[in-house]
Amino acid sequence: MAIGRIVKALSGFYYVENEDGIFQCRGRGNFRKRKLTPLVGDWVVFEAENRTDGYVLELHDRTNELIRPPIANVEQAVLVFSVHEPAFSPLLLDKFLVHIEANDIQPLICLSKMDLLPEEKLEEIRQYKKEYEKIGYEVISTSVHQADTIEELKPALANRVSVFAGQSGVGKSSLLNAIKPELDLETNAISKSLNRGKHTTRHVELIPIEGGYVADTPGFSSLDYHGITEDSLSACYPEMADRIQECKFRGCTHSNEPKCAVKAAVEDGEIAQHRYDSYIQFLEEIKSQKRRY
Ligand code: GDP
Ligand code: ZN
Repeated sequence: MAIGRIVKALSGFYYVENEDGIFQCRGRGNFRKRKLTPLVGDWVVFEAENRTDGYVLELHDRTNELIRPPIANVEQAVLVFSVHEPAFSPLLLDKFLVHIEANDIQPLICLSKMDLLPEEKLEEIRQYKKEYEKIGYEVISTSVHQADTIEELKPALANRVSVFAGQSGVGKSSLLNAIKPELDLETNAISKSLNRGKHTTRHVELIPIEGGYVADTPGFSSLDYHGITEDSLSACYPEMADRIQECKFRGCTHSNEPKCAVKAAVEDGEIAQHRYDSYIQFLEEIKSQKRRY
């Protein structure tokens, strides 16, 4: 018996990789009774029949599990946000960050299309970068037309499993192609949507890079607060999470309560106003989602 990681799932086969290579495996064993479906990213116990084929016998527990695309044990999400076309949106970035924090995944903020950044926006973007870094997030700036920035992105992908995320057109596929030209992913939002029919049967695959893996399909395509509650939202803001014990009221939602440590920190300028605003907006969205069900 051996241990390996599923790097691809296709037509009932699981492709399990370990130091001896990749084994095309069928499922067999207990996990099927537990109604578990092996996912790409799963660590599994398998039995090799020969050098190329085998059986998956058991699944290890997952640290997390994304639904679309279905991948287990994601360690890092590379949040691609273009600085121009589409314009940088801190509100949308916060929404992605909240979902990523809720899944216990390490975010890496990647500002893309730096070559298109207009002079008059330079200072604004620099300011945002500083703010997110102050919270503790790593921020890197890239352009597929500046090879040195791609070289900077590569080590950030080393020795871990990453998914790219971000709205359509920000350059996710272009970045993946730049770091791994063999991928040859289709780029450009318009041609991708025209050709969508062709890709309906696409499978997910983990692509080896720098001793780690990157998923060839972007993650977090739906941001619907699944599992995030009014109580847990502030824990998804690291700069708030540190302070909530100091609020006067237990169960403080940091909206209308007096003697709120979060609101005090916003007033002192220790928490950025736009971060607080996004928190309040998401709190409302969570409440109204709850009312609908
Ligand atoms: P995705 O939808 O996030 O995968 O975005 P794509 O990779 O398809 O890119 C959308 C469009 O932006 C394409 O026309 C790309 O050529 C263009 N693009 C992507 N990255 C860059 C960049 O760094 N600089 C410039 N100027 N254009 C880029
Ligand atoms: Zn509070």
